[in-house]
Amino acid sequence: MTYGMLIDLSKCMGCRGCQVACKQWNDLPGEDTSVGPDFTNPQKRSAYTWTTIDFVTAEVNGRTVATFTKSGCMHCLEPACESVCIAGAIKRQANGAVTIDHDKCIGCRYCQLGCPFGVPKYEYDKPVPRMQKCTLCYDRISEGLEPACAATCPSGAILFGEREELLKLARQRIAEGGGRYIDHVYGEHEAGGTAVLYISPVPLDLTALNTDVTTESVPGFTWKAMRQLPVLVGSVAALSLGLMAYSRRRAQLEALAKGGGEQ
Ligand code: SF4
Ligand code: SF4
Ligand code: SF4
Repeated sequence: MTYGMLIDLSKCMGCRGCQVACKQWNDLPGEDTSVGPDFTNPQKRSAYTWTTIDFVTAEVNGRTVATFTKSGCMHCLEPACESVCIAGAIKRQANGAVTIDHDKCIGCRYCQLGCPFGVPKYEYDKPVPRMQKCTLCYDRISEGLEPACAATCPSGAILFGEREELLKLARQRIAEGGGRYIDHVYGEHEAGGTAVLYISPVPLDLTALNTDVTTESVPGFTWKAMRQLPVLVGSVAALSLGLMAYSRRRAQLEALAKGGGEQ
């Protein structure tokens, strides 16, 4: 069964409670919170900020509509990130969450290149960097809980549930909304379908959502394109594995030195 989230952009009031809940639940450090030109705060997603809120205003039917967009991993039904991961570290779980096994991740960053939504982020500051992203709170949903962001949202903008049920609800809201929403469920077909869905009161190209993404499944052609570079793939993989082994060994030696040479 595929679980997911329906994010109703007409309900988000930009309080950023979801961001705080995500950081708190996942034990992520704080980052620069200066507000960017588009009022995004923090200004972009990183290895330690897995979800952001972007703000836009748009004229819709003669009214100025302010819209906040919560964005993060879309939890694709056929994840491009999984298809290009040469270490087999990324897996789409049976419940729909796409997760990264950090014991396997070699930090090659192919997932970052393959993802049509620019989601996985690199731990630039770590001696042994790995990729990070939203997990759909895999640990929580595996225990029957909602994701932390959905549980926290005070305006009901983030709904968690079975994807098929959320899709029905999204269509129902559009049909009964009296023109409140544009007639599009983002994620129903984008990238071959995603577990995170959106409905919006403003045209999607005015939101932070990527409207250039194909509606076809991405892994097929992503991997086809990457296979054109076998030498590069092999070299980067070998280099990454070597660097990782070196970094791990260095970290072990540093730990031993700090402990006064104890074995
Ligand atoms: S949005 Fe990107 S990182 Fe998330 S599952 Fe899809 S391809 Fe992977
Ligand atoms: S689902 Fe969990 S990991 Fe993903 S943005 Fe929400 S709180 Fe963060
Ligand atoms: S918690 Fe809900 S209302 Fe607040 S910013 Fe996040 S999605 Fe918007």
